[in-house]
Amino acid sequence: MSFAALGLRESIVTALTELGYAQPTPIQQQAIPVVLAGKNLLAAAQTGTGKTASFVLPLLERFADCDKIRPKRVRAIILTPTRELAVQVHDNISNYAKHLNLTSMAMYGGVAEAPQKQRLIEGVDILVATPGRLLDMYTQRAIRFDETSVLVLDEADRMLDMGFIEAINKIIERLPEERQNLLFSATLSNQVRALARTAVIDPVEIEI
Ligand code: AMP
Repeated sequence: MSFAALGLRESIVTALTELGYAQPTPIQQQAIPVVLAGKNLLAAAQTGTGKTASFVLPLLERFADCDKIRPKRVRAIILTPTRELAVQVHDNISNYAKHLNLTSMAMYGGVAEAPQKQRLIEGVDILVATPGRLLDMYTQRAIRFDETSVLVLDEADRMLDMGFIEAINKIIERLPEERQNLLFSATLSNQVRALARTAVIDPVEIEI
């Protein structure tokens, strides 16, 4: 199984080859076709399995031919528990999107808001954010959700452990109802499944 056979275009496959990725990992083989088909996904996968690329690559494929995004809008929101993970996911996106015209941004608390607001005005295709700062930005009208068609909850178990459930629920309430939802978690505890019931309707389930 090759990345091209999974339905990814040449400009993405080239970037992966340059990074030394020879073939998709098991989670990538299973998740990429599901995400490309626009379905909801509930995936139990640990860090180190290649889970990040399993949701990033199909999103790049999907948005690659879109017109420029309007100011303050984003096409996809990836929620992460920490600043470190947000930066790491954003770095991965930048690498995979090297030959595409798509932009990504990491947004997190504890730093000045002004530069983040400026980036949003310039337009961001894929936003990787921690829940608290994203909700702050929304409340301040620095970001709008009307063109957001995908929500990814990455490391959902850790986000719940860190007490982000309220912020996550508020964000979900404000997103367009018509959207694709992907939830990744190391464990599928009862708490994670409860979140999945409201956030990810009728998902395809993958366990690695
Ligand atoms: P993750 O599970 O998303 O944290 O990824 C773990 C590591 O595997 C990261 O450093 C990725 O760059 C790398 N990686 C992801 N997919 C592949 C692949 N198909 N081949 C080789 N390395 C990969």
